[in-house]
Amino acid sequence: MKSKLGIEVIDAHAHFMTAGSMKAWSQRGRSMTSFAKRTQTRTDMKSIEFPGDDFDAGQKWVNELDRYGVSSVGFMIGPETYDEFIEVRRRFPGYFLGYINIQPSDQDAPKKIRKAAEDGFYGVKLYPSSWRDIHVYDEQLYPIYEEVKRQKMVVFCHFGVSIGGEADLRSGNPIDIQIPARDFTDVNFIIAHFGAGWFREVLLMQYQTDNVYMDSSGSNVWMKYLPQDLTIRDVFRYALRAGGPNKILFGTDSTFFPRGFRYNILEEQFNALQSLKKNGLIDDEGIQMIFSENHKRLTGYKPRE
Ligand SMILES: [Zn+2]
Repeated sequence: MKSKLGIEVIDAHAHFMTAGSMKAWSQRGRSMTSFAKRTQTRTDMKSIEFPGDDFDAGQKWVNELDRYGVSSVGFMIGPETYDEFIEVRRRFPGYFLGYINIQPSDQDAPKKIRKAAEDGFYGVKLYPSSWRDIHVYDEQLYPIYEEVKRQKMVVFCHFGVSIGGEADLRSGNPIDIQIPARDFTDVNFIIAHFGAGWFREVLLMQYQTDNVYMDSSGSNVWMKYLPQDLTIRDVFRYALRAGGPNKILFGTDSTFFPRGFRYNILEEQFNALQSLKKNGLIDDEGIQMIFSENHKRLTGYKPRE
């Protein structure tokens, strides 16, 4: 299926929020006021819709994907949305795939990964920037990687800065993934948001490893916090130079309504890549890799046609 931009698009990285999970999320941790303050200054989100119990997240997403011709979207799924996600995926075949959120401290993590694989999930999401006193290279994580390898899943890692005020960036450096990547050469690790600030480190991983990828998801507002002027076009240029087009997966990090699918991000990144194509730095085949082929190759997922 072709998107409005004339190419097949899979959104590799987004979040599935339901009425129940929104409620739980808003009651957890920091107050909504403090969250709203952080999002206003650090994201492009002006408001969040707090849905009633009749909020049909699946239908909302299907409408969004149909509107833009986006084939499928990959969601990070926590325990609070697990069952509802499976139900939605059953209702709308081909639209959605899931990656399960895993906490390294969870003794049952390998079991949960096995169950997720049986339930048709394609990957695991780790959020090291939110961990305390544990790193992705710690031995504690190895049973997780063993299971991921067995189930032929991918691993998404959110390193770098985080909108969560509880973050602990001592665990947030993408360099940390080098040792697991070396020890698990069959597992593919995808660093979200180009490393969310640790961009140089993600580029260096392209030299050091063959199985570390990056996703382009979100507004990439981290660029604003570097002592160097970067545009999304520059970010793609450096990423292409270091890793080539087969190392980048397109994503939007879409989460909330009414914002819905972040088409502006798709358009912006597509235009940036078209501009690089004019300069001979990528061709149509490379662009198609970024928007869908890499995702299909790494996960084995088949989107709707
Ligand atoms: Zn995300």
